[in-house]
Amino acid sequence: MLKQVVMKFGGSSVADAEKIKRVASRIKVARKLGDHVVVVVSAPGDTTDDLLEMAHRITDSPSERELDMLLATGEQVSIALLSMALHSFNTDAVSLTGPQAGIYADANHTRARITKILPTKIHSELAKGKVVIVAGFQGMNPNQDITTLGRGGSDLTAVALAAAISADRCEIYTDVKGVYTADPRVVKEAKKLDRISYDEMLELAGAGSQVMQARSIEVAKKYNVELHVRSTFLEDEGTWIVREVRGMEDVVVSGIAFDRNQAKLSILEIEDRPGVAAKIFGALADVRINVDMIIQSAASGFSNDISFTVARTDLKKAMPILEKVKEELGAKDILCEEKVAKVAIVGVGMRSHPGVAAKMFQTLAKAKINIEMISTSEIKVACVLKEEDCEKAVKVLHKAFNLNSKS
Ligand code: ADP
Ligand code: ASP
Ligand code: MG
Repeated sequence: MLKQVVMKFGGSSVADAEKIKRVASRIKVARKLGDHVVVVVSAPGDTTDDLLEMAHRITDSPSERELDMLLATGEQVSIALLSMALHSFNTDAVSLTGPQAGIYADANHTRARITKILPTKIHSELAKGKVVIVAGFQGMNPNQDITTLGRGGSDLTAVALAAAISADRCEIYTDVKGVYTADPRVVKEAKKLDRISYDEMLELAGAGSQVMQARSIEVAKKYNVELHVRSTFLEDEGTWIVREVRGMEDVVVSGIAFDRNQAKLSILEIEDRPGVAAKIFGALADVRINVDMIIQSAASGFSNDISFTVARTDLKKAMPILEKVKEELGAKDILCEEKVAKVAIVGVGMRSHPGVAAKMFQTLAKAKINIEMISTSEIKVACVLKEEDCEKAVKVLHKAFNLNSKS
């Protein structure tokens, strides 16, 4: 029986003509093996960032609909060029935008969710023997407008397509050899993992490991799509992201993630009564600002301090809303610390090994790094600290949890 394969290539893999040709020759090999191949590609190199910057040179607050219209063009450049490259290698191929591929999304511009996939055209093109190249990161909303799926969204396109066509394999090709114990660009001792569970990858991605988009992992877990993250330019085996990894509970910490795009906000001396937190976070949710860690101090008298983190890129949007809430609720002040980062250790083994958080705090204390906020899940401990301490924190933790020596 013919195998169906989804191959996703990230932006760095299609950054220039030479790389696009290398990707095309890799696809040609897969096609020659007789597989039905669906390819998903991102925009070349930094195109998405460049387009965003261009929009902001025109206006401070571009319409989200038009922003999506603009950003989606990046992926269209890649699909067309890659299809041309395959043609030049005598391999039949056709490029499809997200809407042409039958990818439907909700109306949340710039961060839409995929609602359904109707892969009729994909199937008919595959049946003609063509390699089908789909633009990542985009879909069509109920208004028939193009929407994008959030940064890193081509991963989501690939996983969702793999689920929709019941693909035998979903391969994520990127500029590193797989998922490492920490970002290999920051920790040179980081080791490639052979396997990692969905739950761990989800926590790592949520804590800032950009190698996979967090939502794509949620979808992979839901539909049981096993992922193979590997290098575009090397043949080596990469990392398998799977449901369970044998012996996984023996490893206390599997990986470390960090996120520098964080800011900390504190509302001081706000009344201690029901409804206050609902008011603050409701107002932020209304403008779709995600709040991460939240700490409420012990009440002193009739008031509290509430601190929380948001993405630094949301700070400009959050401040006027908080000023308004402050006036309405009679809080004393708002403090803003712009340069914080979040560092997280992740591992399913934490469930069965006590003392992991304590070891993290001791390690940071020894390195004279102050912890400003802490949050935990069953398999993660995350700390907010000063951005200038971020890299050092990741390195000392990597060593303390024996990840340097992992084979
Ligand atoms: P693509 O363009 O292929 O989507 P991304 O830039 O989104 O690639 O993701 C790959 C990058 O993720 C790597 O270059 C690496 O710097 C970074 N990264 C962060 N954390 C990790 C990790 N734990 N393992 C591997 N790569 C990581
Ligand atoms: N091009 C989009 C981005 O830069 C989507 C992706 O690369 O996955 O976020
Ligand atoms: Mg990516």
